[in-house]
Amino acid sequence: MPKTGREKIVGAGANGDGPSVDESEPKAGSEASRSEAINPVKTEDDERVGNALRPKRFEEYVGQTMVVDSISVAVKAASRRFDALDHVLLHGPPGLGKTTIAHIIAREMDSRLVHTSGPAMERPADVVGILSNLDERDVLFIDEIHRLSSAVEEYLYSAMEDFRVDFTTGQGAFAKTINLPLQPFTLIGSTTRVGMLSAPLRDRFGLVYHLDYYNEEQLTLVVQRSAKILEVDITEDGAAEIARRSRGTPRIANRLLRRVRDYAEVKHDGVITQEISRDALQLEGVDKIGLDRLDRLYLETLAKNYDGGPAGVNALAATLNEEQQTLEDVVEPYLLKIGFILRTTQGRRTTPEGAKHAGVIQDPGADLKSDPQQTRFL
Ligand code: ADP
Repeated sequence: MPKTGREKIVGAGANGDGPSVDESEPKAGSEASRSEAINPVKTEDDERVGNALRPKRFEEYVGQTMVVDSISVAVKAASRRFDALDHVLLHGPPGLGKTTIAHIIAREMDSRLVHTSGPAMERPADVVGILSNLDERDVLFIDEIHRLSSAVEEYLYSAMEDFRVDFTTGQGAFAKTINLPLQPFTLIGSTTRVGMLSAPLRDRFGLVYHLDYYNEEQLTLVVQRSAKILEVDITEDGAAEIARRSRGTPRIANRLLRRVRDYAEVKHDGVITQEISRDALQLEGVDKIGLDRLDRLYLETLAKNYDGGPAGVNALAATLNEEQQTLEDVVEPYLLKIGFILRTTQGRRTTPEGAKHAGVIQDPGADLKSDPQQTRFL
């Protein structure tokens, strides 16, 4: 595959056709969620606009300074030696910029990016097909890497460590093991659930980074940058209002910006001010601190139906008629981050602040008194 001076994106699926060269954005790997208004999982609309808004270089990437600095050094060193970059694991909640970093790495390495996801690599043949088609220094990006089957995962061990795969063809007396050498490549794994990765797989990543939620100042920059690209007029406090309500997540900030832009165009003269942002987002069901309907429903259910908890996440999911995975990956991490809920040994509990937000007054020491062993996870 000739190098073009910018990353080429290759979609690799489980359809057995092998990877096909495609210079558009890759297909989303994440499942859509019920409350799409501000959930950080990808929608089709995000994919369409995502390409234009995605930072192309590290200089354009807002925030996550320590991660970006460390990766930039590793990328520069590998490029200078003309080596493949060490394998990279990126973990953190959805919508924080993991895929974007993978794209930037490929671009900075002047390499091709092959994009696939854990659930798409169903059979060992899929993984062997993808690996054997990689060129030297190519980047293989596996989204939702925690969802790889163990059979597929085992092929990755020798591929990552020794750049070879061993596979068996035929059966019984005709079985033959073939040792296939691979080109040195870089695997970039992305996951919202690093705890679900097996130790042998995790240990094979030389560079491991956690992406954290963005602060208001950083998200204001994200909104201003996106507004410029979309040619939307926005005041600084208009951008800050969107940033405050974006749950610390750039993907949500971009999505809310598009909703506010529509509102500003239809109801006003198109310029986004603080007042317009506030009114438009209220209409979207996003409250002052950025919680959406599902976040509030979760809090209210825990505070009222379960009396502040403890309640198991499976019970909450059943009550809310929502996927447990959506609660664990999307709703809970942010509520934990802002100190509205606690994850204790017995289950989830609201904190006094969380209960207050749900409209319930809770004894400030109640959660600590009843469960001295409670822990607060991020
Ligand atoms: P993830 O892979 O973690 O789910 P993505 O990399 O797909 O998240 O990011 C979602 C969107 O948010 C991107 O399309 C991009 O426009 C925007 N984005 C993410 N991180 C940043 C950042 N640091 N600076 C500017 N925009 C960002």
